[in-house]
Amino acid sequence: MPETIFSKILRNEIPSHKVYEDERVFAFLDINPLSRGHLLVIPKEPAVTLDELSDDSAAALGRVLPRLCRAVQRVSGVLAYNVLQNNGSAAHQAVGHVHFHIIPKPGDESGLGIRWPTGKLSPADGSALAEALRAALE
Ligand code: 5GP
Repeated sequence: MPETIFSKILRNEIPSHKVYEDERVFAFLDINPLSRGHLLVIPKEPAVTLDELSDDSAAALGRVLPRLCRAVQRVSGVLAYNVLQNNGSAAHQAVGHVHFHIIPKPGDESGLGIRWPTGKLSPADGSALAEALRAALE
């Protein structure tokens, strides 16, 4: 498993502003926030991308994410927020350790900007794709 800046944060070898910790999860402030309150939530398990993560770590993350979102809302004073999770450098993942961003969206001037270039799903492709995905589930 590659060593990352987040492994060092987990081992307390480099400092972070810790917000939450349990047996499987750690949350801390992003050092380059897109808006005030930008939080990173990571599993202690050193998986690079979400598809590699164990069910136990995924469950632990899912269990605490809503509570962390509520804390970010309260402290930032902003109700709108994005939860972002990048996988792979093509998808803008810079640190090779699974992480969820919680990013308050105060308005157009700060927070996450999103380009959303939509296409169209035809009924035939929808059927074929859903069937292939159902078959691919383990
Ligand atoms: P990614 O692009 O991989 O989804 O996001 C990685 C995030 O980690 C970035 O938002 C970046 O600001 C944050 N980050 C990178 N290095 C550090 C660090 O040393 N400390 C903290 N707190 N955040 C970091």
